[in-house]
Amino acid sequence: MVNVTDINVMKPLLAEHGFHFSKAKGQNFLIASWVPENIALESGVTKDVGVLEIGPGIGPLTQQLCRNAGRVCAVEVDNRLKPILDITVGEFDNLEILWNDVLKLDIPALVREKFEGLRPMACANLPYYITSPILTALLEAECFEAVTVMVQKEVAQRIAAKPGSADYSAFTVFCQYYAEPELLFDVPPHCFLPAPKVTSAVITLRTRKEKPWEILDQDIFFRTVRASFAMRRKKLSNGLASGFPELGKQGAAEVIAACGFSENVRGETLSIPEFAKIANEITRRKMG
Ligand code: SAM
Repeated sequence: MVNVTDINVMKPLLAEHGFHFSKAKGQNFLIASWVPENIALESGVTKDVGVLEIGPGIGPLTQQLCRNAGRVCAVEVDNRLKPILDITVGEFDNLEILWNDVLKLDIPALVREKFEGLRPMACANLPYYITSPILTALLEAECFEAVTVMVQKEVAQRIAAKPGSADYSAFTVFCQYYAEPELLFDVPPHCFLPAPKVTSAVITLRTRKEKPWEILDQDIFFRTVRASFAMRRKKLSNGLASGFPELGKQGAAEVIAACGFSENVRGETLSIPEFAKIANEITRRKMG
């Protein structure tokens, strides 16, 4: 197997094919073999798993996934990488590469088509410029057992944040609504070519089979969350009144009181079950 993380192998390989890194496509390739090895190991990928990989690049993680998984489907937007991937991962007969923009794919349909009889997982060293839309699509697809990704460390901390902390955000609630996150390990900039300016981190999101709360209307729930964080420094009643103009200030205050919270409560301190309580109260009032 070609050791694509060895810089003495990678550089001539890229040069031979006239390849230049595209910043716009978020291309920072791994040059430390322990990183893809550990991502593949800690993702829990085994022979009964079908893995969707996003952005194989020149294939360091793809190689590891192909060794461990039943089937790998890798989606890459940059078809200049084709002749290089032919060399680095051409030997694997459990791999299919789709030359496409991952955000244009119908992910649940793809998973049904490619991974029949296998446990679906997603795994990637993500292109950082589209971290949020990709994670949103992977979680909303609700078809993966686990999603293990490398992202900017700051994003990983935001995904795994606890209520009341500075990192806790609407995106935290979105991710934790669908999955339970676990921070795995940090990856310093010198592990990539070119080196990014920030530290990276690998995080795994184990998706929830059953959601441990009752939510009457998912749209109202996410509207409540967004409204609560839109005015972080202000009382929850202000955020709710502006996110739900139909409630007005008084209605917002009544909702908060009916749920048993103090009138001074701030949205950024609420847990998912507490957001659910507020959202359900709003839903009941809208229906009533
Ligand atoms: N997996 C390789 C590695 O670890 O060295 C490359 C990771 S690099 C951070 C991100 C990869 O995602 C690049 O190969 C880039 O071309 C690809 N990419 C960027 N945007 C994409 C998109 N919209 N759909 C699919 N792949 C994309």
